[in-house]
Amino acid sequence: MEAAGTHLDAKELYRRASEKDAGISLATVYRNLRLFREQGLIEERRLGQLRCTYEIKRSGEHQHLRCRGCGRVIEFQSPLVRQLLAEVQQRNDFFATKMELYLEGYCRQCKE
Ligand SMILES: [Zn+2]
Ligand SMILES: [Zn+2]
Repeated sequence: MEAAGTHLDAKELYRRASEKDAGISLATVYRNLRLFREQGLIEERRLGQLRCTYEIKRSGEHQHLRCRGCGRVIEFQSPLVRQLLAEVQQRNDFFATKMELYLEGYCRQCKE
């Protein structure tokens, strides 16, 4: 995952892992993803419909944009995200433990 530097789903991780070790099974991939997640090493992100992707957990929070044309995932950060979170929590008297902001659309090349 570190080497890929991108957001991979379990099937893609399995495909890449089995290139290195043909003996690996999809169940092993899922088991390890669960283990890494429980240990706080990785994060699960839902990028569109039911597709679940994983990435190495880093200190800074970030959100995602995904291009519907080429599938590229772009990470972004904005101080406004924290403001939005604070406002929504206050207005709804709700304590959020997780927030994902996900935008889908077209990157510049695909838009053209
Ligand atoms: Zn694109
Ligand atoms: Zn990310």
